[in-house]
Amino acid sequence: MTHETPTYAHEIITRLGRSSPGQHEFFQAVEEVLSSIQPLLDAEPHYREHAILERMVEPERQVLFRVVWEDDTGRVHVNKGYRVQFNSALGPYKGGLRFHPSVRADTIKFLGFEQTFKNALTGLPLGAGKGGSDFDPKGRSDREVMRFCQAFMSELYRHVGPTCDVPAGDTGVGAREIGYLYGQYKRLTGRNAGVLTGKGPGWGGSLGRTEATGYGLVYFTQSMLEDRGESLDGARCLVSGSGNVAIYTIEKLYDVGALPVTCSDSSGTVYHERGIDLPLLKQLKEVERTSLRAYAERHPDAEFVPVDAYPRDGHAVWRYAATAAFPCATQNELSDGDADALLAAGVRCVAEGANMPSTAGAVHRFVDARIAYGPGKAANAGGVAVSQLEMAQNASMQHWSMTKVDTRLRTIMADIYRRSADTAAAFGAPHDLVLGANTAGFRRVADAMIAHGIV
Ligand code: NDP
Repeated sequence: MTHETPTYAHEIITRLGRSSPGQHEFFQAVEEVLSSIQPLLDAEPHYREHAILERMVEPERQVLFRVVWEDDTGRVHVNKGYRVQFNSALGPYKGGLRFHPSVRADTIKFLGFEQTFKNALTGLPLGAGKGGSDFDPKGRSDREVMRFCQAFMSELYRHVGPTCDVPAGDTGVGAREIGYLYGQYKRLTGRNAGVLTGKGPGWGGSLGRTEATGYGLVYFTQSMLEDRGESLDGARCLVSGSGNVAIYTIEKLYDVGALPVTCSDSSGTVYHERGIDLPLLKQLKEVERTSLRAYAERHPDAEFVPVDAYPRDGHAVWRYAATAAFPCATQNELSDGDADALLAAGVRCVAEGANMPSTAGAVHRFVDARIAYGPGKAANAGGVAVSQLEMAQNASMQHWSMTKVDTRLRTIMADIYRRSADTAAAFGAPHDLVLGANTAGFRRVADAMIAHGIV
């Protein structure tokens, strides 16, 4: 009987399974990255000599804190707050804050790990971090959200700063929350510093940050399709989610001549054959902050599928036929069964706006089918890229035009695609952007870590 020697990546994955039990999302993210970079690890044994994988899967620092706040009736609530400072090899820790009841330490670790490679891929001087809370802003008044944000920042301010750690928004954290967090930071420190990105354009924010992740996702997809002699012009598209990323993906899809026919939220999925009504979607989600049920009430020709009517093994949004699919809601929202359904219906492109929205099995199916598949850490990097442009504007006391920001965003997304595709081709797998993106991101971080010595 022969025993294969475990590879370096496999050894670290096995060890992590033992040392971080129960952290399923973090483990899934690590397993995907490490197994895809094995060809590089085989070619460059010095990464093992420097114990790079062992260092990379361990966050530099994790802060867990209590957040105590009072609701409008005077009742006291306690939530958990997190900030994980994952890797600073390339620059200050950078990554969003997520406020959602599903947030656990595991969630924040997986997001911070993903962020390390995403930020490296942008080519910008950005380290990686992530944070958040299990607080649910849904149904809370503005005053309650303000009091929660103030309580959250009352601890977070000790750990962040414009040259050490610069958080931004993510699920449940938009312009309103960033405003309250920033106000409290200023009150506590007396400093008007660029310590958060996603600020309002009138008080230190960058034009184009709100749109950046969605627009960037479409720019990335255009580059990916161009390389295959295809385009989004006239393409029927499925989009999931109806938050920041989904809304501006839909907006840009219309700009480039595509037809987005779905969106979704935690209450269900909307299918609108003649195209999603974007002004209505913005009104419902950005102004009224209400459920998508209201969409179908105002458009009798649209279909609304409530969550309890979803297929057992997946999400209703992926069961319509389309050329391209853009998962923009949350992690693991696209199952193995959904991937089979999409491929059977002839999908030619899947580009991820959310972080790790496809299960590991779904990712394998897309790569094996050789469709144009853009993994989240490459395809959704537009948000963090424009956050870095906001940091640059803050540091130089400048305010750039929308055209300047958008032009830079287009270039950055085209570069991310090129870097990922060239790396994939160099390893003999030109269709595999998972390998390309992970390998290119890993190499940049690992080389910087080696240059910094054993720290
Ligand atoms: P938002 O909070 O603006 O929107 C999230 C959307 O997803 C909402 O429609 C929400 O529904 C839905 N959703 C969230 N969690 C769940 C869940 N567990 N089940 C079902 N639906 C859910 O977040 P963003 O648009 O900012 O973020 C979406 C994704 O994109 C996340 O994975 C995030 O990490 C990623 N991302 C975001 C970036 C950004 O710049 N904002 C940058 C890069 C990645 P409902 O309205 O009912 O809550």
